[in-house]
Amino acid sequence: MLFGALEAGGTKMVLAVGNENGEIMERVSIPTETPSITIPKIIDYFKGKKIAALGIASFGPVDLDKKSKTYGYITSTPKLAWVNFDLVGNIKNALSVPIGFDTDVNGSALGEATWGSTKGIDSSIYITIGTGVGVGVYQNGRLLHGMLHPEGGHVLLSKHPEDNFEGVCPYHPNCLEGLASGPSIEKRWGKKAIELKDEPKVWELEAYYIAQALVDYILTLSPHRIILGGGVMHQEQLFPLIRSKVTELLNGYVRTSQINDIGNYIVPAALNDNQGIMGCIQLAKMELQNQ
Ligand code: ADP
Ligand code: ZN
Repeated sequence: MLFGALEAGGTKMVLAVGNENGEIMERVSIPTETPSITIPKIIDYFKGKKIAALGIASFGPVDLDKKSKTYGYITSTPKLAWVNFDLVGNIKNALSVPIGFDTDVNGSALGEATWGSTKGIDSSIYITIGTGVGVGVYQNGRLLHGMLHPEGGHVLLSKHPEDNFEGVCPYHPNCLEGLASGPSIEKRWGKKAIELKDEPKVWELEAYYIAQALVDYILTLSPHRIILGGGVMHQEQLFPLIRSKVTELLNGYVRTSQINDIGNYIVPAALNDNQGIMGCIQLAKMELQNQ
């Protein structure tokens, strides 16, 4: 059986077709322009592919409340052409297949929970540190929504006493995304993150902020495992720095076998940057099963 996958990002859309095992048969990537340009391209791609259902994991914020009149909409995004755009409705009208829908980072959390680093684990979180910072929460075998959806990229942190950087988030002077996203690294240090590989101070400060957020997630969500993904986490030297800072900040308060084995608790993604698209396949499968 074939399923469609649409990873809708603020800069690009990845469109793919895969099977029920998460194997991707074909994919293309197109730039995210305005809905009137981009949506017809998406519809053209999936028309004639014989997909049984489509899964969409989208940038947001998005409306995930199936009882809401604006379910399936992108809501208050800074990408103005997409504000209050009915993403699911427009595609569903054209393709007439069941559509599973969630946030981009929940899609990655689901892909990893189904086939990757958190397979077989019923509560986990996936954090992407990239252009933005997002947190996907998989809780008791399902993605966590709630009032909106978790916006863990904007948790507020204590500034490092020697860090005078004002952050890049327009809403918060001291949130995780503002202080630790790829663009914040670039703005603070004046070079792209990848060019700062051999600057230990950069990664120590980065770990200082990421670890604070992880401690908050550990204490509030109690995940069995945490995945760190996204472009910035390609800097693998961050993992040991973050693990040791988390241990230091928890200060012996949480004593579980997982925390004692922190190398297997805070881990990279396992699906080679396919976790998002594979998560979309799983969203499609789940939607078909729910019909
Ligand atoms: P997006 O968040 O836009 O989907 P990415 O997860 O690739 O995409 O994140 C892009 C951000 O990650 C950019 O700010 C970029 O500077 C940073 N980045 C990408 N690759 C690396 C790398 N190898 N090392 C450090 N930073 C990286
Ligand atoms: Zn913020």
